[in-house]
Amino acid sequence: MSLKAAIIPVTPFEQNCALLWDDVTMEGVVVDPGGDVPRIRQAIAQHGVTVTAILITHGHMDHAGGAGELRAALGVPVEGPHTADRMLLDNLAKQASAYGLPPARDLVPDRWLAEGDTVRIGGDEFAVLHCPGHAPGHVVFVSTALKLAIVGDVLFRGSIGRTDFPYGDHAALLDAIHNKLMPLGDDMRFLCGHGPGSDFGTERRSNPFLGPD
Ligand SMILES: [Zn+2]
Ligand SMILES: [Zn+2]
Repeated sequence: MSLKAAIIPVTPFEQNCALLWDDVTMEGVVVDPGGDVPRIRQAIAQHGVTVTAILITHGHMDHAGGAGELRAALGVPVEGPHTADRMLLDNLAKQASAYGLPPARDLVPDRWLAEGDTVRIGGDEFAVLHCPGHAPGHVVFVSTALKLAIVGDVLFRGSIGRTDFPYGDHAALLDAIHNKLMPLGDDMRFLCGHGPGSDFGTERRSNPFLGPD
């Protein structure tokens, strides 16, 4: 059994919506369906995946904007983010119109997530880490068994999440990266919300935004 992944870039922000599934049971999840729901549903059908849940890393529109529509189409629960992002999810429709994007639905998750929770992706259990800074309720999904993390907009290849929002917190973001993510080990690979993935060792050594730890 192994975990398969297909990345579906969605919205004008080219956000990496991820379809992840177990290649034996063919059960899986959609992470961060920010929009372009027909394209996401096409990928689900193409790979023959039975989706059991929708996971959300944080409440920005390019990550959560399509979740309400996808939930209605699939009839599966939305899990995450942390409740500190409630004010973002309550404003998805407004965020979308402010950016001139197709209408999004405000979202109330079926399950808020907190540090120490776990979520199921196919047959694998992923731990939930609360990593605020880019967004107050940002969560990261981690499997130490698979050496795989899904980090949303916390960390990128060669960069880190923006914190120039009214609720952004640069110190909290660096704290989460240094004290929650990096201790998981250099060989931990990650998928992120924008651009190509990487691994923690590469970023620890060469990411100019992390500095000496
Ligand atoms: Zn974001
Ligand atoms: Zn994003």
